Amino acid sequence: MQYYESIVDLVGNTPLVRLNRVAQQVQPLVLAKVEYFNPGGSVKDRIALRMIEAAEQTGQLKPGGTIVEPTSGNTGVGLALVAQQKGYRCVFVCPDKVSQDKINVLRAYGAEVVVCPTAVAPEHPDSYYNVSDRLVREIPNAWKPDQYSNPNNPRSHYETTGPELWEQTEGRITHFVAGIGTGGTISGTGRYLKEVSNGRVRIIGADPEGSVYSGGSGRPYLVEGVGEDFWPQAYDREICDEVIAVSDKDSFLMTRRLAREEGLLVGGSCGMAVVAALRVAERCGPDDVVVVLLPDSGRGYLSKIFNDEWMSAYGFLATESDEPRVGDVL
Ligand code: PMP
Repeated sequence: MQYYESIVDLVGNTPLVRLNRVAQQVQPLVLAKVEYFNPGGSVKDRIALRMIEAAEQTGQLKPGGTIVEPTSGNTGVGLALVAQQKGYRCVFVCPDKVSQDKINVLRAYGAEVVVCPTAVAPEHPDSYYNVSDRLVREIPNAWKPDQYSNPNNPRSHYETTGPELWEQTEGRITHFVAGIGTGGTISGTGRYLKEVSNGRVRIIGADPEGSVYSGGSGRPYLVEGVGEDFWPQAYDREICDEVIAVSDKDSFLMTRRLAREEGLLVGGSCGMAVVAALRVAERCGPDDVVVVLLPDSGRGYLSKIFNDEWMSAYGFLATESDEPRVGDVL
C-alpha cells in the first residue's frame, strides 16, 4: 500500500515547472518552483512545520499548548494544518480589513480567529498588535511563532527549499528569484545556494514598488504578502545581489498571463516574481538556469486580480493585450 501517515508528510518537495510562453523572448531556461503544491496551498507550510517542531524541541510549545499569531493568510493556514495534526489549539489575530473568505478558511481548519479594528492606532489596546500580545500573556501554555523574527523561518528554507532546488537542477541553477515578505524564503534558500555553489548562484529579490527592500519609503501597494515598511529580523540584508522593484500593474498582468498561458493559477506575488525573473533572464545567456519561486495559488485572489472590474477600477487593464475579446461582457 502506498500512503502517507499524515497530510503533514506532504509539506515540501514541490515541483519545478518550465515557463514556456511567457519566457519565449529570453534565452535561458526559466523554471518555476510551484509552492501551491504544498498541502496548505502555499510556501508557508514549510516554515509552519519547522517553527512548530523547533518549539516542541525547546519546550516552548508543550502538549495541549496554544499557538497565537497575528496572521490572516498563508502562514495561518500552514500553522493551523500542522497544529491540528499535532493536537495544538490555534488562535489567530487579524485586522478587520481581511476578507471573510480568508477568515472562513482558517476557521474551516479548526482555528479560532479574533478580528480587530483596523481604524485604531497601533498603541490602542484593541489594535492587532496589542491583542495578540495580550492573548499570549493571558492564555496558559501559549506560544507565538512570530514569523518575522523566528530564525526557524529562514532555516526551514535553508534545510528544504535550497537543497531541493540544487538537486532538482543538478547544480545547474545560476539565478534564484523570489519575493521578499518576512525575508525567510530568500534568506534561507539564498544562503544555502550561495554556500553550495561557492557564491556562484545569483540571488535576486523581487519587491513591490514603494517597499523598503528596493529603497522605497513604505508607501502602499496592492500586491499581497511581499514588501514591508520595516526591516524584519528574518531578512538577511546581505543575501541579495540585487533587488528589483515591480509595479502593481506589471505584477497583476503577469499573474493573469501565468493562468492563461502557462496554466498556473497563482497569486499576485508570483506575477511580481516572474516579472523580476524575466528582467534578469533578458540579461542572461542560453546556458543560464533562472529559477523563480511562486509562493501561493490564485484561488485567494479571484475577486481581485482575476476580476475585471477590480482591475479596471485601478486602471490596470488599459493595455493592448487586455483589450476586450469576443464573449466579454462590455
Ligand atoms: N508571497 C506571499 C503570497 C506570501 O504570503 C509571502 C509571505 N509573507 C511571500 C510571498 C514572501 O515570503 P517570505 O515571507 O518568505 O519573504
